[in-house]
Amino acid sequence: MFLKEYFGTIYKASKSLLTGMKLTGYYFFHPKEIQTHEYPDNRGTLKMADRFRGEVIMPHDANNEHRCTGCQACEIACPNGTIKIITKQEIQPDGKKKKRIDTFVYHLELCTMCNLCVVACPSDAIVMGQTFEHSVYDKKQLKKVLNKPGSKLMEGVE
Ligand code: SF4
Ligand code: SF4
Repeated sequence: MFLKEYFGTIYKASKSLLTGMKLTGYYFFHPKEIQTHEYPDNRGTLKMADRFRGEVIMPHDANNEHRCTGCQACEIACPNGTIKIITKQEIQPDGKKKKRIDTFVYHLELCTMCNLCVVACPSDAIVMGQTFEHSVYDKKQLKKVLNKPGSKLMEGVE
């Protein structure tokens, strides 16, 4: 009885080991099918899923122009005060004053990547970026200004 149980256990363990080794052997001969990624070694080729949300960003074109009018809809939509829009009055060629964005402050350390600000923006000025390596030693570095220095509102966006 004891011997039967003893050899039975050895048989089961060997079978289980061989099952695992079979899979290991398969991937050894089919490396292209391996699903695991060796981060950070694959940093250069790493492609995140399209719907991945890493941070809020404001795209600028080649002329350093963006689509942000400073309307503050994103600030109002954000549930946790991550965004602070600072505006200024700009004199237009016709002499009239118009509200324009001065500083788009984004506190990455507060952001939950909920996407509500992006949805609320009426001029598609912000999107979710795919960067995810946000570790810093000082959390003050997570406070970002999304409109680039010297940038201005794209012509035709109101
Ligand atoms: S993604 Fe959500 S939490 Fe982050 S800034 Fe936008 S609205 Fe706020
Ligand atoms: S990002 Fe969009 S919603 Fe936010 S202030 Fe600029 S235009 Fe308005």
